[in-house]
Amino acid sequence: MTDAAVEVRHRPAPVLVSLRGVSKTFPNGTVALSRLDLTVQAGEFLSLIGPSGCGKSTALRMLAGLTEPSTGAISWTGTRPEIGFVFQEPTLMPWASVFNNVWLPLRLRGIGKAEARPRIEDALAMVGLESFAASYPRELSGGMKMRVSIARALVLRPPLLLMDEPFAALDEITRSRLNDDLMRLAAELGTTVVFVTHSVYESVYLSSRIVVMAARPGRAVAELAVEAPRERDEDFRTTPVYAETCRRASRALHAAMSGQDAL
Ligand code: ADP
Ligand code: MG
Repeated sequence: MTDAAVEVRHRPAPVLVSLRGVSKTFPNGTVALSRLDLTVQAGEFLSLIGPSGCGKSTALRMLAGLTEPSTGAISWTGTRPEIGFVFQEPTLMPWASVFNNVWLPLRLRGIGKAEARPRIEDALAMVGLESFAASYPRELSGGMKMRVSIARALVLRPPLLLMDEPFAALDEITRSRLNDDLMRLAAELGTTVVFVTHSVYESVYLSSRIVVMAARPGRAVAELAVEAPRERDEDFRTTPVYAETCRRASRALHAAMSGQDAL
């Protein structure tokens, strides 16, 4: 390894955004988050795991600017960048073609079809759907719909991609293919990803870092680094680092859940 490579590895990643002491109480009195501290570093793949109701979606929605903290602060390094958001459901417009679905974020910014075309075609090629531009959502499998949703989220090339349990409804094989494609895309585009999942295995496979949350009230209770190179394939699942990190993450998750039960 060259000296330059060593230097790059040890340089701390710049902070993209940090949540400090962020709480969220909904008007009905539900405390969704209580004093959450969370830092997202530029270029990392960060997963949030935790039981239902621990505020994972609320935290993502705050990063997206869709909901405001009741107290605490969200600070961006510089201005808030363009953000892509992928939900558990692909949320495609059923009456519109794949092409027109992916056009939407551009259209909302006043970019006409002709100008948008190469960008839409690029985004569809990234997710392997270049030949499905004229198809309609009803003609696609669940995995393909999710690919369209990802293409739509990436068409503006956002530096930050937020994903809220995007693969939870997919079968195992489709899910693992999408995991690999997502990992490759995030690396190629240099996209920072904040990924919410229920699956310890998925979080360890994909992430550089995992934050474990507990519910009632929602908060961060543990943090783990996945000490492995970012470039991974199925072989990673058979390594000691993978097994050991899954074990640690499961333990932290169980502790978070039993703490919740004890309340
Ligand atoms: P998670 O995504 O981890 O399952 P959420 O962020 O969706 O958790 O929700 C955290 C808590 O806040 C839950 O108890 C949920 O019922 C509650 N909650 C979420 N959104 C609202 C809302 N708009 N109004 C009232 N309560 C909400
Ligand atoms: Mg949720």
